[in-house]
Amino acid sequence: MTTQPILTRGRTAVITGAASGIGLAAALRFAGLGLNVLLGDLPGEALEQAEQQVRASAQHGAGVRAVAVDVANFASVLELKDAADGPFADVAILMNNAGVGANPGKPWDHLAGWKALVDVNLWGPVHGVQAFAPDLIASGRPAYIVNTGSKQGITLPPGNSAYNVSKAGLKAYTELLAHELRAVAGGAVTAHLLIPGFTYTGMTGRPEKPAAAWTSEQVVEFMLDSLAKGDFYILCPDNDVDRSTDERRMQWMADDVIQNRPALSRWHPDFAEAFQAFARKG
Ligand code: NAD
Repeated sequence: MTTQPILTRGRTAVITGAASGIGLAAALRFAGLGLNVLLGDLPGEALEQAEQQVRASAQHGAGVRAVAVDVANFASVLELKDAADGPFADVAILMNNAGVGANPGKPWDHLAGWKALVDVNLWGPVHGVQAFAPDLIASGRPAYIVNTGSKQGITLPPGNSAYNVSKAGLKAYTELLAHELRAVAGGAVTAHLLIPGFTYTGMTGRPEKPAAAWTSEQVVEFMLDSLAKGDFYILCPDNDVDRSTDERRMQWMADDVIQNRPALSRWHPDFAEAFQAFARKG
């Protein structure tokens, strides 16, 4: 593994969606490295159990604090920020990771469901950045802001339109954030887009890990390696989809605009064969 100078003992990791899946695996890993961990998630038993679990895995005197937060609500995210005080004040990584996947339906369906999903998946990370970034920048200390996106925000596979829209928006937001942070004179804060593949978590909704899925721990290890290398796009494979397959799918998507093909031509019957041939070239 490449040397990691930012995620050092005694500094703090703030993670939303930390009671389950990728967020919980990250919390366990950071506490094991000796970072103090602030676990943010909706109030309830899962958060309480996660706090105990993470405390049990903490090394080198790392502190662990659970904070009930609804990332869709900016006032609530400001309370999470307020909890990053005392021994938790030196934030080395903010993971805006909380997400929901329930499908509210077609683009013309269930407006309230669309808004609720986008409030968590897109506005949640925006709230996190608005709450934490000013002080992170002002501290002059190096820190990561990692937003958890999705391949679905890049290739837009038909199905859950609202989820795809939320993650596409988050990709754009995080790219712009990275650019703006880069332009801060003397700035030491960088932004990164974590793009998990198929990962076995609470969101998977199955009792057993599908063979195609990665574990949350694999995603977190990949993220740590990628951060140490300075990658912005943390594009995780899974057991089914390798990097070259992802590259072909993303290339085809970008070429829709350039070649003036119909939207989502990958799933258009007239282009099915051409896409298959293109994907095979990878
Ligand atoms: P998960 O369901 O195991 O964990 C998500 C956590 O977010 C839960 O603990 C949940 O309570 C929390 N959460 C939901 N709404 C919240 C809110 N309003 N405020 C605070 N916390 C809230 O799922 P996961 O797969 O670990 O998801 C983590 C992230 O990874 C999400 O952003 C998800 O979209 C993304 N992702 C997952 C996969 C996958 O295959 N699992 C793939 C790509 C991206």
